[in-house]
Amino acid sequence: MFENNFTKQLVLIGGGHANVQVLKKLSVNRIKGLHTILISEHFEATYSGMTPGYIHKDFSKEEISIDLQRLCFNAGATFIKDKVVKIDNNYQKLELHNLPSVHYDLLSINTGSISSTGGIKIENSSRCFLVKPISLLVKNLSKIDQIIKNKKNKIAIIGGGVASYELAFSLSRRYENNLEITILGKNILKEKNLNKKTKKNLKKISNYLGIKEIQGEVVLISETHLTLKNGDMFEYDISLVSSGADIETWLSKSNFKKDKNGFIAVNNNLLSTNDKNVFVTGDACSVENNFRPKSGVMAVRQGQVLKENIFYKLTGRPLIKFRPQKNWLYLIGTYKNYALLNYFFLSFHGRWCWKLKEWIDKGFINKFKFSNSINMAKKNFKLEKSKNIKMYCQGCGSKVSKDTLVNFLKAENSNPELSDASIINTNTSSLLQSIDHIKLFTSLNPYDFGIISYLHSQNDILSSGGTVQTISVSQALPFSEGIIENFYMEYFMKGIKSESIKDDSIIVSGHSYQSKEPGITITMNGVFDKQISKNQGREDDLIYLSKPLGTGYLLAAYFNNSDFLSSIDFQNLLEWLKKGNSQASEISKSFKSNITTDISGFGLASHLSDICKSSKLSAEIKLNKEILINKNIEILENFKSTGFDNNYSSTVNEILISDSNKLKNILYDPQTNGPLLLSIHEKDQIEFEKKFQLKLGFRPILIGKFKKSGGKLINVID
Ligand SMILES: Cc1cc2nc3c(=O)[nH]c(=O)nc-3n(C[C@H](O)[C@H](O)[C@H](O)COP(=O)(O)OP(=O)(O)OC[C@H]3O[C@@H](n4cnc5c(N)ncnc54)[C@H](O)[C@@H]3O)c2cc1C
Repeated sequence: MFENNFTKQLVLIGGGHANVQVLKKLSVNRIKGLHTILISEHFEATYSGMTPGYIHKDFSKEEISIDLQRLCFNAGATFIKDKVVKIDNNYQKLELHNLPSVHYDLLSINTGSISSTGGIKIENSSRCFLVKPISLLVKNLSKIDQIIKNKKNKIAIIGGGVASYELAFSLSRRYENNLEITILGKNILKEKNLNKKTKKNLKKISNYLGIKEIQGEVVLISETHLTLKNGDMFEYDISLVSSGADIETWLSKSNFKKDKNGFIAVNNNLLSTNDKNVFVTGDACSVENNFRPKSGVMAVRQGQVLKENIFYKLTGRPLIKFRPQKNWLYLIGTYKNYALLNYFFLSFHGRWCWKLKEWIDKGFINKFKFSNSINMAKKNFKLEKSKNIKMYCQGCGSKVSKDTLVNFLKAENSNPELSDASIINTNTSSLLQSIDHIKLFTSLNPYDFGIISYLHSQNDILSSGGTVQTISVSQALPFSEGIIENFYMEYFMKGIKSESIKDDSIIVSGHSYQSKEPGITITMNGVFDKQISKNQGREDDLIYLSKPLGTGYLLAAYFNNSDFLSSIDFQNLLEWLKKGNSQASEISKSFKSNITTDISGFGLASHLSDICKSSKLSAEIKLNKEILINKNIEILENFKSTGFDNNYSSTVNEILISDSNKLKNILYDPQTNGPLLLSIHEKDQIEFEKKFQLKLGFRPILIGKFKKSGGKLINVID
């Protein structure tokens, strides 16, 4: 994935209908030397065409969403979840809400629009929802559900265009008889592409569903009433504003030339008319001399031109022109499995129209699903068609095997207990020292990776009972130049710094180099009051994990495009990867825990058996779903990271476990920034769990207890 020498940076802002097509094209055709970043405020892109279908529960959220992290992974692009808040055209620089700024050589803006509320005063006490951006509407649906659940409600849709009607139909179906819908608008059904029959049909369907219409301009939305310009008042419970589009403030404040409505003016090539390094598509743009109403259809069409033009521009070829149609096919969902079709003078209402709509919409969205297709071929790792799918692990699973390590250390006569950190004694003090390295996962934001690599290294110091004092960082950046090299350096280091600040630790030295396999090596020094080593386990002490396991096989499954994992599952995994263990370590120290180790690339079984061996004890443990980050056992059964086999072969003989135990693979799964394994005295169980929950907001995971040695080192009970 990082085989190129990156010389140019393409930045895409927003996962709109056009930018996703650029990424899809990049997943098939790469441009040598191009480094691509997508910045999106959400992990998923919502497909507008299927949103009404989602509202009336024909489709699930996953069916109407594009997983942007996975799309970036397949396109070899980096995904940054953040919001752009400012653009500086002169320096080709974007400022983000949370993360460091990003520079671009070529930019593509496809950030959609927000609902226009111009001329309407909305009081804070009102229950008013904006329909754009769509992602916000989708998010607000649960709030609307809550309001509607309790009583029959009056919903006012302020708009009057075809979108207001489609929204009204879908809400009517979602809430069945629990609401009274009224569409209020200055201009009702004025779209010139709608033929007379379609307009008549829309009104007929509204009538049938009991949806009312009021012609008039809303000027005030207060807590209980809408006020029209002519002074009429209308009582309502919930209002939805669907009265047109506006551009976001950061874009309206930019130096781009705008049309009379404030949208960014672009030429037929979809380039800003005053900045030839910036493409703008979808709702955010206005094509010079070719005004068309804002729609997802238009954004999709523009995407077909954008994806080509980006390639042409980067490779120095002439650009193609976007030629918008004057009229296009409308398919408006009405009742269950029914849609209304409008095309020039044709208008039909029927089941086949719904089938056609579904076929077109699914055809589009399915292009962005990579169902179980493997794109790791470039790494020369072949997918076996066997049940267990392996992945070339870029995290801690890419360690050498434990057997190789142990044999070497044995020959050297050093570190027989495989301590995570060593003590360096001088005449005046004692220091802990450790070193760790992990490789960057393709598409992962390097800032998050900086956080994860710090926490991963910190585990070594915590597991020896210490706290981090100083760190030295060696960064392997991808082969790159200028703004791309700066981007990786800044994002890696700022991610690391965001964690070192919490420890009050100082970055004392560093080194950086370029590599095909970017990653971070961190050497940490720590101090300690009482060193914890692996031979201090006590019989009957309880064994806890500070957080759940599963980073190895879950990353393998996600990056193998497994359908088992959705974008939400990945977000959950990322949250655990970015969760540190220092508070858990502090709490366990306050309960005088005399065993702490981190579960690393060697997996749970290896670390626990080392402790048992050194402490001359055995462990009796029970595995249940609580131990897993992702509770779907099918993923555990079907995927493993590359480190798995080595972990399995070096530890399997130490374990007694029934073959039918469905969770057995978790024992050997390599962890990146894994949990700490803590031992707590039995009498402290309740207090420890209480304190842990209070400080960390979730429970520590009790997996078993230490027992007298005898038989196998680890006995897993069913
Ligand atoms: C309820 C409803 C139903 C609709 N149904 C249809 C339909 O059936 N057919 C049709 O053609 N049109 C439909 N539309 C219209 C359609 O929503 C828009 O015209 C279309 O979504 C615009 O697409 P886009 O590609 O410009 O941007 P969007 O699809 O809106 O995508 C923009 C993306 O950019 C992200 N973003 C925004 N700002 C930033 C920022 N500053 N930094 C980072 N990321 C950012 C957003 O989170 C979003 O993911 C519907 C609209 C609504 C409200």
